[in-house]
Amino acid sequence: MAADAILTAVGLTKEFKGFVAVDDVNLSVERGSIHALIGPNGAGKTTCFNLLTKFLQPTRGKITYKGDDITSMASADIARLGLVRSFQISAVFPHFTALENVRIALQRKRGDSYDFWRSQTVLNQYNDRAAELLADVGLTEFAEVQAAELPYGRKRALEIATTLALDPEMLLLDEPMAGMAEADVERITALIKRIAANRTILMVEHNLSVVANLSNRITVLARGKVLAEGPYEEVSKDPRVIEAYIGA
Ligand code: ADP
Repeated sequence: MAADAILTAVGLTKEFKGFVAVDDVNLSVERGSIHALIGPNGAGKTTCFNLLTKFLQPTRGKITYKGDDITSMASADIARLGLVRSFQISAVFPHFTALENVRIALQRKRGDSYDFWRSQTVLNQYNDRAAELLADVGLTEFAEVQAAELPYGRKRALEIATTLALDPEMLLLDEPMAGMAEADVERITALIKRIAANRTILMVEHNLSVVANLSNRITVLARGKVLAEGPYEEVSKDPRVIEAYIGA
């Protein structure tokens, strides 16, 4: 276990009708790190991710966050502790502008009512912070654009902004680069680096050059089991990892 682990899983196991999708996985994410979960298709990454955020209940195993056992906690309660999955709470409303979407997320964080029709004055209180968050993710010039009209990469950036509105201490990102053009990949990579300056990040990501560029540590899954764990330079040379990728 890492010296200063913020999130740990011990013996994490998920069976689907006898099929073991995640098999006795131990994972330890160090506070302040960017940790990537990689592996060939069907390795169990998504299932593992869903277990950690409690979208799925594990068959066996224990998950702790900042020392607290969160194995039996509901997803929303875990989010309140500061462990937030991107796109978990922060759905983007397609017919609202980028700015309105971030304002709504800020309002939800405060626990105000969803009734955003009611009071424009209440929403206006969040304008400054929302504009700051949009600037953080490079969306200032898109503030007044409807979410539905945003180019794909910008929409993902907006999703990240609405997640940041919740002020998470740790973020779980599910394939942040999926479907992105090269220019978007560069921008989101820079954004994740900035976000990580004062947060912990665990991400599932297929793009290995992104993983190499961003991650401090990597856990490789194959057939539900941890195959290797360590920094990219080490893990990428591991013959078992190479074989798992080639053999997949
Ligand atoms: P990855 O994200 O690494 O591609 P998944 O976690 O999606 O892998 O899947 C791991 C294995 O578990 C796959 O063989 C998949 O078919 C199986 N699996 C995932 N979810 C279910 C489910 N709800 N029911 C049955 N099998 C599942």
